[in-house]
Parts: sequence; structure tokens; C-alpha cells
Amino acid sequence: MKSVQTEILMIGTELLLGQIEDTNATYMARTLAANGVNLYWKTTVGDNAGRIIDALRLGLSRSDVILCSGGLGPTVDDITRDCVAEVLDAPLEYHSDLFEVIAERFRRRNRPLSENNKRQAMLPRGAAPIHNANGTAPGLIAESEKGVIACMPGVPHELKPMLDNIVIPYLSWRFHIRNVIHYRVLKVRGMGESRVDAAIGDLIAKQSNPTVGLLASPEAVRVRITARAATVEQAEAIIDPIDAAVRMRLEGLAACIDRE
Ligand code: ATP
Ligand code: MG
Repeated sequence: MKSVQTEILMIGTELLLGQIEDTNATYMARTLAANGVNLYWKTTVGDNAGRIIDALRLGLSRSDVILCSGGLGPTVDDITRDCVAEVLDAPLEYHSDLFEVIAERFRRRNRPLSENNKRQAMLPRGAAPIHNANGTAPGLIAESEKGVIACMPGVPHELKPMLDNIVIPYLSWRFHIRNVIHYRVLKVRGMGESRVDAAIGDLIAKQSNPTVGLLASPEAVRVRITARAATVEQAEAIIDPIDAAVRMRLEGLAACIDRE
């Protein structure tokens, strides 16, 4: 079975203006990798319906799943769910039970509920809500023959638990993902990047599982060995021989290596 291909779509004009850092993208990318989910594209788009719709259509044309961040709030610039409805040809439907959860949250906090909050109880037809334990806007997962779109709020502490507790387990189940991606980092001192590259460049070029990559910083050169396997233990076993090959070559040239 072909492994699932995903992409992430980061929504928010403030991201394009550089006003906030896109920490959600980093978190999503790391979490997907750690759970063996292939991430092939990352797109950032502002709060503009035409461009969000274009990005969703392009995403569905090349990926199985699009994971969206942002634009689920109650204000007029929060248009993610409308765009998903449009792209999937699934009209927005109001869910009174979802609204009750939102209203209860407002009551508990003594905050006035506005008519706008009703928008947050709307889902594209056939989509399932994702409970938001830390905020108002529910997320959503919409399946269709065009592909799967999952949407989460932009607020990081709302997005993270939804991704970890619902979206990742859902993807693992739906796409039979049995892999983890696991890596080990070796910190090399006493040798510059180009010498390390010359000594182990063939390992970097040739390997597909594990893959070998270099990361240079002023303090040290890091060799990252990344494996895909059914379990972390199996990944470690795939990494071990390459770790040994790297050590043999670099320590042979008097470099000092620590496991990070
Ligand atoms: P809200 O209900 O708060 O409006 P939302 O789902 O509509 O949530 P946005 O309006 O896009 O999300 O973003 C809300 C806030 O979340 C932003 O002001 C910003 O502080 C934070 N945020 C949004 N996107 C990101 C991101 N990609 N990385 C980190 N923080 C983000
Ligand atoms: Mg918002």
C-alpha cells in the first residue's frame, strides 16, 4: 500500500507579515515525522478566501491529507471552514450540540456570547468535529473522495492537543501507519564540516534507510542518522551500523564524537 502523503497549510495574514513566528508549522512537521507520516509540502497563505481555496485545491490534487492551522475563530477574517466547505462541495451545516458546548464554555467564564460564535458551530456536511479542550473553536476532519482535510485552531496550545490526541491517531488508523521515524545525533568535534563531509559524504548520498545528514554550528558538526521502522527499537537497530561506520571513519581521523 502506498504510504500516505500529507501537507500542511498555515493560514493567517500575520504569518505572511512576519508578525508572529510560525511555531505551529515546526510543531506539526516534527510530530508528523515522529509518527511516520510523510510531509511533502508546507504552504503559508493569508486570510484571503480566494488564495485559501486555491491552496486547498492544489493540496488535494497532490496529497492525500491537508492539515490546516488557523482561521477557525469567530471573526470575519476567520474563513477556513467556509473555504473547506467550498472546496469539498459540502455546504456548512449548523450543529446545535456543538453550539451548546461553546455556549457552556462562555457561561462558565461569564463571557458574553455573540451571534458570531454560531459560526464556530458550523461544519462542512459530513465533517466530524474535534473537541477543543483549551478554547472555543472546535477543529474538524472532513473526508471526501477528493481527500481528507483536517483543520485546527491557530492558537498553539489549542492546536497541539488536537494534533497529538486526535489527528495523529486518526491518520495512523485511517492510513494504517505502522512506522516511526527516529533519529540519533552524533556531535563531532575537532573537525570542520567540509572534512566531515569528505569523510562520510558517500554515506550521506547513498543511504535511504537510515538517511544521514550534516548540521554545522560554530560549536560542533552534527551528524544526524534517521531511520524509519515499525518501532523505536527496530529504528535503533538500523541506525547502529551506520553510527559505527561514521565513528570508524571520523575517529580514524582523530575527531571526537559524542552521542547527543
Ligand atoms: P481564534 O479563535 O483565536 O481566532 P483561529 O483558529 O482563528 O483562533 P488565528 O486567528 O489564525 O486562529 O490565530 C490566533 C492566534 O494564534 C494568532 O494571533 C497567533 O497568536 C496564534 N497563531 C496563529 N497561527 C499560528 C502559527 N502558525 N504559529 C504560532 N502561532 C500561531
Ligand atoms: Mg482568528
